[in-house]
Amino acid sequence: MSPSYPTSAFIGGRWIPGEITFPVINPATGDIVGRVADLTPDDVRDAIDSAAAALPAWSARTAYDRAAILHRWGALILADQEPLARLMTAEQGKPLAEARGEVAFGVSFLDWFAEEAKRAYGDVIPPTMASKRYLTLRQAAGVAAAITPWNFPIAMLARKAGAALAAGCTLVVKPAEETPLCALALAKLAEAAGVPPGVFNVVTTSDPQGAGLALCESPTVRVLSFTGSTEVGKLLYRQCAGTVKRLALELGGNAPVLVFDDADLDQAVEGVIAAKFRNAGQTCVCANRIFVQAGIHESFTRRLAERTAALAVGVGDKDGVAVGPLINAEAIAKVERLVSDAVASGARALTGGSRHARGGLFYAPTVLTGVTQAMEIFQAEIFGPVAALIQFETEAEAIRMANAVAVGLAGYVFTRDIGRMFRVVEALDCGIVAVNDGLPSVAAAPFGGMKESGLGREGGHQGLEEYLDTKYVCIGAA
Ligand code: ADP
Repeated sequence: MSPSYPTSAFIGGRWIPGEITFPVINPATGDIVGRVADLTPDDVRDAIDSAAAALPAWSARTAYDRAAILHRWGALILADQEPLARLMTAEQGKPLAEARGEVAFGVSFLDWFAEEAKRAYGDVIPPTMASKRYLTLRQAAGVAAAITPWNFPIAMLARKAGAALAAGCTLVVKPAEETPLCALALAKLAEAAGVPPGVFNVVTTSDPQGAGLALCESPTVRVLSFTGSTEVGKLLYRQCAGTVKRLALELGGNAPVLVFDDADLDQAVEGVIAAKFRNAGQTCVCANRIFVQAGIHESFTRRLAERTAALAVGVGDKDGVAVGPLINAEAIAKVERLVSDAVASGARALTGGSRHARGGLFYAPTVLTGVTQAMEIFQAEIFGPVAALIQFETEAEAIRMANAVAVGLAGYVFTRDIGRMFRVVEALDCGIVAVNDGLPSVAAAPFGGMKESGLGREGGHQGLEEYLDTKYVCIGAA
């Protein structure tokens, strides 16, 4: 790890080493990357108090002032792209090229929201009485909290922090215990960029339950933005009821991919490789169920299996590695169980199908055919490098199966028929639909799910809304 990045938590502009620490493990090697402060719920409450103290001055600044600071923060992050990417690969495991891309992707949110806050317009409403005037103001919603996941340690944090700080909110971030070092590195760069003390706080802890409860139960925290599992999201939803907090929830997906007979086969294979194997399959928009129409099933499957078998598996900082380790022992055990259950019920592994020969947390990139709706792998979010293929005959059948799950984040469609494209796009229960493309996420567009995939949107102009209140002002005219 780069010695220049901190391991202390960051509260009210002060670095807090904590009375005890917890280790951060490199999932590729099992080595300890660093030890970070293990804070308590009381420390979390201190961070909320610091954010509350910093709120009046920060929200009173102009959007232009806040934008200048956010741009500066982004520029410092980008200047550190290489060491940050190496830190991310060390604590998270993803290939270095993906880590570099993620640093730039994270910065794109700071820049996007810095500009977007300049356009947080209110309204002047035509009055219904000659003696009155009506206005709306858009104001910062207050202290915000962010609970972020380990799969995109910089981008998910920047997506929330960019929107919150641009809107004039102050923020307490609790990063995932697997990847706290990237969050602390961002805090150091925030300090260097001139983000005032208390505006951006990072609390690291090995006790997410205790920290989560402190954030949820605080009446001071007005917005909670969470990215993570559906199970924890539902818990947070319940825990926030007592304070009627606004929630943005980016939860699990189970992305369907519909590959039709009329698709461009090369484009479909490459799109599925990108949507499936990025981050070793550990993203909430990763292709999870791949529906392939009967006419191209054989040729598509063969080509996908060839491409998958050729993916280089290894430690992320080695050149050419495309698939790194899974994050921890539970993650690989889950993938192993889903695959063996599917194979026991009649699915067939064309390539992979087991842990990788490297051992440790590496799972072999896998293509499974003959998956059915009855298998657990159809309903569960795999979160690993396993492509589960289901053959279909008609468009209606594919849409019915694609929507036959409780979640709806991303969906992918490969077709060259424009009529079919619109029918399928409109029919899918997904908050994001990519057509002939495997990588739809971008700062300028709204990201979020339907059904149990969550609430609210991040990115786009919609992403700022989560952190703004609308105040209606009624004026009796003279
Ligand atoms: P995963 O299972 O993929 O690790 P989680 O939903 O458990 O996903 O983790 C996402 C984030 O939620 C992490 O920051 C984690 O520490 C946090 N988290 C886990 N459990 C809780 C909880 N009970 N309350 C608050 N945050 C939690």
